[in-house]
Amino acid sequence: MSITSTPTDTSPRNEGFDCNYDDCDTNEPAAHGPVGAYCSKPCQARDRGRRLLALFEHDHRYCATCFRPLKVVDDVPEWRRSSLGPVTERAATGFQSLTEHAERGEVARRRDAYQFETRIGVVCECGNANTREREALLQRANVRAVVRQLYESLETLREEGQHDKRVDLEALIAALRSQVNYGSGLDFEYAVGVAVDGEGDR
Ligand SMILES: [Zn+2]
Ligand SMILES: [Zn+2]
Repeated sequence: MSITSTPTDTSPRNEGFDCNYDDCDTNEPAAHGPVGAYCSKPCQARDRGRRLLALFEHDHRYCATCFRPLKVVDDVPEWRRSSLGPVTERAATGFQSLTEHAERGEVARRRDAYQFETRIGVVCECGNANTREREALLQRANVRAVVRQLYESLETLREEGQHDKRVDLEALIAALRSQVNYGSGLDFEYAVGVAVDGEGDR
């Protein structure tokens, strides 16, 4: 996915324009013209935010709803490694422990439209029992805490080298606050996207 391709001919409007933000079905750019491969600045911001938020969906150490760290994964220490055979070493790579935000409990996973299967898994203190999915209701229940935790966890991931964006906490709070004030649903992707330092569209 490239965000650098800029349509060279914008008049007349490009037929078959396909906005790079997956959830946008606009097939022509906004009146003021496309922004790179996006139909508009909001779509560009949402895509930027989505890519950062996706880090949490793919990182099993975090809750994708409240962004709290749930697990700590430690490398196998060298002294221990040397005493392990090749098979057991692989099996033991990455000792995991739960943080104070997590506990073991029954988690449900949808099998199909009608059936769930339950098993024992990690449950977050926010109430999310499927820590890879975002639960909008739980996020709305405590926006303030979620925003601060999101900021902190994004900083941690940046320090680990998983991304290189600096997110402005004040801009993040302001973006979500205005969404609350307008009574719209919380759009975390957009809020994160406009809060990335130097790339906001405010
Ligand atoms: Zn779009
Ligand atoms: Zn959580």
